[in-house]
Amino acid sequence: MSVIPYARQNISGADIDAVVEVLGSDWLTQGPTVDEFEQAVSGRCGAPYGVAVSSGTAALHLACRALGLGEGDLLWTSPITFVASANCARYCGADVDFVDIDPRTYNMSVAALKEKLEYANRRGRLPKVVIPVHFAGQPCEMDRIQQLAQEYGFAVIEDASHAIGARYCESSIGASTWSDITVFSFHPVKLITTGEGGMALTRRADLDRKLRLLRSHGITRDPSEMANSAEGAWYYEQVELGYNYRLTDIQAALGLRQLDRLDEFVARRRELVARYDAALHDLPVVRPWQHPAAESAWHLYVIQVNPEAFRGSRAGVFTHLRSSGIGVNVHYIPVHMQPYYQRLGAFGVGSFPEAERYYANAITLPLYFGLSKQDQDRVIAELKRAMG
Ligand SMILES: *Cc1c(COP(=O)(O)O)cnc(C)c1O
Repeated sequence: MSVIPYARQNISGADIDAVVEVLGSDWLTQGPTVDEFEQAVSGRCGAPYGVAVSSGTAALHLACRALGLGEGDLLWTSPITFVASANCARYCGADVDFVDIDPRTYNMSVAALKEKLEYANRRGRLPKVVIPVHFAGQPCEMDRIQQLAQEYGFAVIEDASHAIGARYCESSIGASTWSDITVFSFHPVKLITTGEGGMALTRRADLDRKLRLLRSHGITRDPSEMANSAEGAWYYEQVELGYNYRLTDIQAALGLRQLDRLDEFVARRRELVARYDAALHDLPVVRPWQHPAAESAWHLYVIQVNPEAFRGSRAGVFTHLRSSGIGVNVHYIPVHMQPYYQRLGAFGVGSFPEAERYYANAITLPLYFGLSKQDQDRVIAELKRAMG
């Protein structure tokens, strides 16, 4: 019996040919194909600038640096996310706090954000940066978050690692219509892949310049960015402490081809979601709820076992599915419950009750472009058996 994973990349023959072609070219690391990939992604999303980097985590780190986050500053994000959304603040020496989730969308609750901002304002400890995460591919209520950003003076980074191909209020995620910077991840479980890779998109020329500088050691060859005048054609200056966060042309070639297939990928995911929704409606589970202004990219299909209507446990259902060859998963263990964040001291269990309640019941079912209807039916049948 083959194992059905929760996620899987889809690489076509044409994708492979594009990578092989770059291997025979003059450029392996960042070169013309990276430029082309940046233009293709930012063009498709409707953002003027896109900076390709070596991972989504690197994009988050650079976004924090570009916005000037540092020692003594504060960053807020959602507890229901991958640890990278919080770690980026710690790389900069900043402190992290969380905003509880909306129990319907599992995204950062705007009501909780507003309340926490009012309290923080009274105490004089407002965040410098807030990172809403478009969980499972469903966009956050970005218009309302932007209003609060203007009122309280914080910057916004959208963690859109799950959400390339999603839309909110008719605007593509990535356009950064309501934020300073949007971050994508191209890890193989995500919507499109470059193996490892990520991108930071922005509407601001100044942030684009900073992101590019920091991506490559803080080194510039642009005389307008230098402290001294150029001594010759060899001359460059390191003006900031940057990193080697470059994407390679090999990866960008794969990314370009994958981007061409994004619509097809999302359409197939939607089709599989409709099949899950129809098949699971009479089980004691909570199915994903969609905000009317949001069009999800459907990175994940998460159900919650309904503790009022189901006598068994989430762990029992999970174990049954895993032992039946169904690669279910849990997204995510709340970040504030991780030992590293517990050690920082500020977060007791019970700090973010909606996130903890969600976590106690959540199971991620397999969802990916290549999931066959037969395999999906096997997932559904095993889930019914586990709960029946
Ligand atoms: C995958 C992911 C990241 C990190 O992306 P990498 O490309 O793996 O570094 C960040 N945030 C979220 C929500 C993710 O799912």
